Amino acid sequence: MSHPTAFSGSLFVVAAPSGAGKSTLVNALLAQEPGIKLSISTTTRAPRPGEQHGREYYFTTAEDFVARAEQGEFLEWAEVHGNYYGTSRIMVEQQMLAGTDILLEIDWQGARQVRKQFPRAAGIFILPPSIDALEERLNKRGQDEPHVITRRLLAAGGEIAHAPEFEYVIINEEFTVALSELSAIVRAARCRFAQQAARNASLFAQLGLHAE
Ligand code: GDP
Ligand code: ADP
Ligand code: 5GP
Repeated sequence: MSHPTAFSGSLFVVAAPSGAGKSTLVNALLAQEPGIKLSISTTTRAPRPGEQHGREYYFTTAEDFVARAEQGEFLEWAEVHGNYYGTSRIMVEQQMLAGTDILLEIDWQGARQVRKQFPRAAGIFILPPSIDALEERLNKRGQDEPHVITRRLLAAGGEIAHAPEFEYVIINEEFTVALSELSAIVRAARCRFAQQAARNASLFAQLGLHAE
């Protein structure tokens, strides 16, 4: 079997205004879809009740974050809602080389940086069914202080304005419908010629097919 030099894993970038249901959808996808992993970001935001270091995020200080950003540790990083967030470059590249699909839950600024480095990354934007629903979900989640919720609602329009930069859009009204759409996007991306060729190199060689 030939040795694929390209990344055989696909990269998915999921963005949404806070409260649209991004984490709930992604967690449900990961529970039902093997072969895809979530990149755990590093953040300077304080942990929410129940969040664990190394599970939802790697929590750190602003000083440590900035030092690591300067060393080039992050594939992308951005300031979102007053905190820094960054994606580990080494983790993403290692997983993609090993053929594991990787999903990034990041904001539009980070998505732009990723798109420059991985033009074939599948960009997915999650929209709420209405602004009222977004507010209701942020309140219902009940994990952020009222002033934090206000700040996130005010930022929602700015985030949504970047939805046209994404290839796919999911409207998260009925959860099960949104989940099946997310799953369909992941499955379709895996059938792209380059991904199939990288994962099935010996079959493609036998059939005389060559990756472009
Ligand atoms: P090129 O593909 O060699 O012209 O250069 P690129 O900068 O587009 O990609 C560099 C490497 O990243 C190549 O091995 C690509 O196959 C890989 N790559 C780029 N985009 C994606 C992507 O969205 N998913 C995966 N899995 N690999 C990608
Ligand atoms: P995000 O990660 O985008 O900030 P969350 O995944 O934390 O958002 O979801 C925000 C809240 O909305 C959570 O309480 C979640 O249970 C709820 N939620 C998610 N999807 C739906 C949906 N389709 N209908 C109703 N509530 C939802
Ligand atoms: P939360 O604090 O609600 O978990 O996330 C707030 C925002 O930060 C969301 O829009 C989320 O997508 C974004 N975010 C989380 N991790 C990263 C990251 O590693 N990089 C970037 N650029 N944004 C992130």
